[in-house]
Amino acid sequence: MKVVFHENFKCSEYASNSASAPGRMESIMTELKAGGYTVASPEPASMDDLLLAHTATHIADIQKDKKLFDMACLSAGGAILAAKMAFNMEPAFACIRPPGHHASREKTWDYCAFCNMGIALLKLKAEGLIQSAFVLDFDAHTGDGNINVLSAWPEAKVFNPMAHDSQSYIEAIEDYISKIQQVDIVAVSAGFDTYEKDLGKKLKTMDFYLIGRLMKHLAKRVCRKRRFALLEGGYYIQDLGKNVVAFCQGFD
Ligand SMILES: [Zn+2]
Repeated sequence: MKVVFHENFKCSEYASNSASAPGRMESIMTELKAGGYTVASPEPASMDDLLLAHTATHIADIQKDKKLFDMACLSAGGAILAAKMAFNMEPAFACIRPPGHHASREKTWDYCAFCNMGIALLKLKAEGLIQSAFVLDFDAHTGDGNINVLSAWPEAKVFNPMAHDSQSYIEAIEDYISKIQQVDIVAVSAGFDTYEKDLGKKLKTMDFYLIGRLMKHLAKRVCRKRRFALLEGGYYIQDLGKNVVAFCQGFD
């Protein structure tokens, strides 16, 4: 399994919010490198890539802020690289920011700029590589952007689990994926703010491992192991790296 990362993601000055916080990327990459994962570096997404998921008006809105736009293009490019690697049978986790699952076709909110997941999947589809996809979004917040951007594509299914506690959360995922017969790729919007000490106050480190493993087994069963994950939320920096590594160990 490969990690997609670019040193520019360490720059926290593209925005001032929890996703752009200093030390956040470092906490993840220190743990991933200690875990022995090797890194691949992305190119920024092109205007044509962005137009797969967004209106020209929304892109122009983001473009008004050059620092944000440049980082958001690199983030979307990281998502595309992870998806391409996954298609070529190399599982990948993209450690990218800004996150993307709240970015819809025409607008965005929270810490997101472009819909990284939508852009990556629509790119594979536009190139004729896939016709269907499954997205698990385990962020504490529903990925309304992923849902909006992928809504015109009936063969792309998005699942945001809802549950009161960690056990029923895992069971909800198991139940949903047990009904999936066939998809061309398994994708994960990996939001670690579901962590028990983060905003979502729900999942333990071991649960991220279990979710990663469930996605790996699903990919083995339905799509010749093709799978990738993109970083979304996750703000409890102290434990963020170990939670990401736990997910990756299950996913790998
Ligand atoms: Zn979130």
